[in-house]
Order: sequence, then structure tokens, then C-alpha cells
Amino acid sequence: MSRTVFVNGEFVPEADARISVFDRGFLFADGVYEVTAVIAGKLVDYEAHQARLRRSLAELDLPSPATDDELLALHRELVRRNALDLGSIYLQVTRGAVDRDFVWPAADTRPGLVLFTQPRASLDSPEAERGLRVAVAPDLRWGRRDIKTVQLLYASMAKSQARREGFDDVWMTENGFVTEGSSNNAYILSQEGRIVTPSLSRSILPGITRSAVLRGAAEAGLEIEERPFSVAEAQGAREAFITSAGAFVTPVVEIDGVRVANGRPGDLAQRLRRLYLDEAIRTAI
Ligand code: PMP
Repeated sequence: MSRTVFVNGEFVPEADARISVFDRGFLFADGVYEVTAVIAGKLVDYEAHQARLRRSLAELDLPSPATDDELLALHRELVRRNALDLGSIYLQVTRGAVDRDFVWPAADTRPGLVLFTQPRASLDSPEAERGLRVAVAPDLRWGRRDIKTVQLLYASMAKSQARREGFDDVWMTENGFVTEGSSNNAYILSQEGRIVTPSLSRSILPGITRSAVLRGAAEAGLEIEERPFSVAEAQGAREAFITSAGAFVTPVVEIDGVRVANGRPGDLAQRLRRLYLDEAIRTAI
């Protein structure tokens, strides 16, 4: 079925959607994005995604394409027009279309704004049931990974390489420690029984799912340690898992060819997935 997408002020059938060849998102990856899950036609963790979008825009001096109210209305209208029950909404803002120049255009250049839906068949996934096998690769991305830019080439390259080698995904490392997955945050359950995940910095994206899962885990009385962990510690951990708006909480069962514990999805990851989804459904708008 053809989707209706939103492009620079208009809802159009996807086949008719057009952007300029001069769009700076296309020429310079000069843009930011958000992916918001939709469950039962409602937006999950929406305010947090909106807040992160605002921060990404501010960090890059990108003009805002719309007010908060307008963006929420656009999300809802797109859900309605596509009769989206389960899936996600992708939103992208770019610095607009002007003649190619490294120097940013005048601040009043009209930003580009694109939104489209991505349906999914089920809240469950084969990966969540069997767990992911992740490769390990050096983190060669730029130094502002805390901004959600559309500059995803290295993550895409590293994940593609991992897939070619038979893995599901990749965990990236820097200075001997895991930063994050190609498009997800990384965690272990340490031998001491604590949830360990890297603390927020310019080295990783502040995942919206990360913050919701850590909040839920803290409320459930689980111990959390925000600190670096190495590949060796992860391989020897009790459990490993990832979070993202698309994967929710998904267990990792193998890291660089080494099984984590018995090589089966762990109880904690499965419990956190349920906790997260319950709360996501309860608070979706
Ligand atoms: N890290 C990276 C590099 C990502 O691309 C993503 C997903 N966009 C995440 C973490 C997870 O963020 P979120 O929970 O907001 O989807």
C-alpha cells in the first residue's frame, strides 16, 4: 500500500514526494532526525523525542521548522492518514535547500521537514526471542554522537559489514570500551548484578528508550551503574542487551563470537522489555 508522507508543507503519496537536489540534508548530511514508535495508533515517549529534537536543532543552530504543537499535529495527522496502528514515525529536519556552500546559509532559510510512517507487523520480533549476535568494531564516528544527525554512514557501514559476516548487529568500541550499538544503546548485567551502561557524554546518543528503561529499572529497585564496560567484561557478563525506539529492549546473546552466559536471552532483558512496553503503552499519547 502506498503511504502518505509529509514533505515541506504537504501531505503527498510517497511516489510523488520530492525534495530539492540542493537540500543540505542530501548534500552535507546537514540535518537531524527522530524516530518515534507508534503503538495502538499512539505516540510512544513523544515529549522526550520532541525535547531531544529541540536539543539537536539547538546544538547545530538549525532553525525550527514548526512549533511543538504543529509537530505533534503532524505526527497525529500522519498516523491518521496512514491508518498506522503499529510502527514508527520518522521525522527529519534539514537546513533547507540553497546553492551548495560549506558556509551555513542565512538563519531565515526555510528548513526542510519530512515525516513518514514505517509499519511493523508485531510488537514481538524474532531477534527479541532468540537474542542478537553482535560483532565488535572500532567506533569511527564523529565526536558529537549526542546529536541525532542524519550522518549515519559509519554506523550503516559497520552494521552492513557485521551482517555480511553473519552477525545481527555491531557494538562499537573506543579506548577499549563499548560506546553503543549501530542504532541502539548497549547494556550488560554485571557479575555483581547491576545494570551497567555507559554514562551520557558526547560519545553516545542519549537514547529516549534508555532513559525510560533506566527509570523503570530504578523504580523496580534494580541497581544501575552508569560507567564504561569493555568487550571482555560484556562477554563475561550475566546478560547483555540493547535498547532503542525500534528494538525496545532486545537481548544480546553473543558478542564477537563469544556467548554471553548460556547464550540464551536473559531474564532481566525479558523483564525490562515487558516493563518498558507496559509503561510505553500506558503513557503513549
Ligand atoms: N544510539 C544510536 C546511535 C541510535 O541511532 C539510536 C536510535 N536512533 C539509539 C542509540 C537509541 O535511541 P532511542 O532509544 O531514542 O531510539
